[in-house]
This record gives sequence, C-alpha cells and structure tokens, in this order.
Amino acid sequence: MTVDETWAPLRVELDRWCNAGRTARLWLRDDDAAEPTPALEQLLDLTRTASVPLTLAAIPATSGEPLAARLSIEPHALVALHGWAHANHAGPDEKKQELGAHRPVDTVLGELRDGGAILRRLFPQQFVPMLVPPWNRISKALIPDLPGLGLEALSIYGRAQAGGPIPMLNTHVDIMNWHGVRGGRPHVELIAELVGELRARFDDDGEPIGILTHHLVHDATAWDFLAQLLKSTADHPAIAWKSARALLI
Ligand SMILES: [Zn+2]
Repeated sequence: MTVDETWAPLRVELDRWCNAGRTARLWLRDDDAAEPTPALEQLLDLTRTASVPLTLAAIPATSGEPLAARLSIEPHALVALHGWAHANHAGPDEKKQELGAHRPVDTVLGELRDGGAILRRLFPQQFVPMLVPPWNRISKALIPDLPGLGLEALSIYGRAQAGGPIPMLNTHVDIMNWHGVRGGRPHVELIAELVGELRARFDDDGEPIGILTHHLVHDATAWDFLAQLLKSTADHPAIAWKSARALLI
C-alpha cells in the first residue's frame, strides 16, 4: 500500500467535514519530558515547522533548568504536570500507577503540590495548570482536591465523561504500541482510529480529539506517522490544531 492509499480514509473524512463547512479540533499531548534530548529536538522541530501547538507532560521530580531554558524559546510548547516522579506504587499484579489509592491521599496530594510549584517556577509562561497522571490513571478520591492545588483540569486517555468534578482534556489516539515489541502502531490502524473519532464528532462536536505521543520511545514508524499526520492536517481547512490553553478557556 502506498502512503497515499494508506492516508486516503483520512482525506475522504476531512473532505466530508470541509464540504459541510465544519472544522474538527485536534490537540497534541506528548508525555515524559524531563530534559532536552535529540528526540525532544525532533518533536519540537516537527511541531514548530507545522505550526502545531504542543503540550508536553513534564515529570517535575526530574525536570530542571536545562528543559526550562530549552523550552523558553519554543513558544508553541506548553507544559503540563505529569505526576511527581513517574514512580509506580501499584503491586506487581496491578496496572502501573503513581496516583493510585496505594498511598495516603495527603502524601500524593503533597507530591502534586510540590510538582506544580516546580513546573510553575521552571515554566512561568508555559505552564498550563492541568494534571496528566502517569499511565493515564488516577484514584477518583484525589480528583476533588486538584482545584485546591491550582490544578484546573485533568487529561487522561479515552472519551471524557461529561459532568465530572473537573474539566477534562483527554487524548484518544495513542500512536505507540505498548505491548510486545514497543514501537509505533501501524499507520492504517491509527488512521482508522482517527477517522472513527472524527465520525463520532461529525454530528455533535463534543470534545477535541487528543493525539498522544511519547517522544523518548518513538521508532521510525511512530515519527513517520506524526510527520505524515502533521503534513496532512496542519494546513487543512477541516482541522484546527489547538493549544491546551485555548481549549481550556
Ligand atoms: Zn508518562
């Protein structure tokens, strides 16, 4: 299958939006930033060149001045709070969680308070007060206390439930395969998923579609998907790439 054939279903769907005079909102969340790396450079280059806003979920316990200095000259990048240290506190038979019910609520909230303070100090212009729980999982018991920590929104994976205690800005298409051989998922599969998300919003706009990436573990398949996606959508009249800040207003 040629690249053109692979991407045809997205073109067809976007044409349908265009013909209806509709614009779909997309946003890009990339997780696990802590320091400047060649992979981060690649992500910043791709997004800057395409003029696509980027939200980096940064790990506060390991983020420092080098990341702050590097991002300060990338105004298209925002920073959200990615837990505390990305440490797993779940048992060996459970799914990984840092913000689960395994520790006292006050301990976890204290970490999030410290993490928020670190990122606000490092990224005074670019911090967006949104929590991105590591592994996209958080104990429900913590959520009502997030606004008290200055965290005004939550971002996990999957369709958001309406009417929750805090605004949600979720992701819906994860470009990585986390099972078996870790790498980018097949493009055909990702395009079908994105088209499905678009179709679900055609009649009722609903939540923006979040694309989820993890720059540190991208292989060529993952980078190629992201590059092709930005190329196909950045200037398309049916797509508006939005920053997390714009979507949370
Ligand atoms: Zn993470």
